[in-house]
Amino acid sequence: MNIVVCVKYVPDATADRRFESDNTVDRVGVDGLLSELDEYAVEQALQLKEKAEDPSSVTVTALCVGPEKALDAVRKALQMGADEGVHVSDEAIAGSDYVATSLVLAKAVEKVGAEKGQIDLVMCGMASTDASGSVVPAMLAERLGLPQVTFASVVESQGDQVRIKRDGDTATEVVGGTMPLVMSVTDQTGEARYPSFKGIMAAKKKPLETYALSDIGVDAGDVGLSVAWSEVSETNERPPRTAGEIVKDEDGSGAEALTGFLASKKFI
Ligand SMILES: Cc1cc2nc3c(=O)[nH]c(=O)nc-3n(C[C@H](O)[C@H](O)[C@H](O)COP(=O)(O)OP(=O)(O)OC[C@H]3O[C@@H](n4cnc5c(N)ncnc54)[C@H](O)[C@@H]3O)c2cc1C
Repeated sequence: MNIVVCVKYVPDATADRRFESDNTVDRVGVDGLLSELDEYAVEQALQLKEKAEDPSSVTVTALCVGPEKALDAVRKALQMGADEGVHVSDEAIAGSDYVATSLVLAKAVEKVGAEKGQIDLVMCGMASTDASGSVVPAMLAERLGLPQVTFASVVESQGDQVRIKRDGDTATEVVGGTMPLVMSVTDQTGEARYPSFKGIMAAKKKPLETYALSDIGVDAGDVGLSVAWSEVSETNERPPRTAGEIVKDEDGSGAEALTGFLASKKFI
């Protein structure tokens, strides 16, 4: 069985995140990491491998589309236990929207599939932790012509059959599908493992390929900001946090001051 896990490199939420002058996210000058929500997808892929009758027959390939630094996301997935890595990097991709991102991912999955014979499962996170679109898995399924089972909180597989639990606001659905298919998993699937020291050392020797757009048959004119279907027209920095107000109750007027404050903010 061949599994591709899509892992996105995102700006570290604890870092000083910025936009570029063209309103795209600065992904080069800011520290980044493997999107935490994609760690769950890597974990589930590794568990499917470990539970397989013959784990050595299952290959987990981590796939990332992003700038040079995004290789860190693939490395982290390899350290967690993925077998191989693919990084698609090309200057023309900068500023790509969901439509272009899903095109590049789909073409890269097809190339990996052509090399391996077939891809049985494409796994994604439920959303990225930066743009949070939650749309890429569905777009990827459409482009690959595969069924999709999304937002899985529980993943089970037997042979080529997959069953997931999908938790909604009012009901939990059990959805089944036959591989090959695209799946996205939520943060309810269980803790993702930390890379062990052995895993970190082993990752250095694992196969890692870098594709340019020309390697996957994507025209540079079909990706990038200039062909994005929507435009981020304005971005503003969040105003700095103001100091809080301490209400003292030295003369018994605390309650009045407190209700006055809440009323001024329209909380009461
Ligand atoms: C006009 C416009 C301009 C934009 N400019 C930029 C820009 O300059 N730079 C930029 O990075 N983004 C840019 N974006 C956002 C970009 O389109 C999205 O980040 C990207 O398409 C993925 O969407 P998402 O992060 O919401 O993914 P979601 O749909 O939330 O992702 C779900 C899952 O898909 C997979 N996935 C998504 N993206 C990738 C990836 N790159 N590699 C591997 N797996 C992935 C992951 O498994 C992820 O958990 C722009 C968007 C618009 C509309």
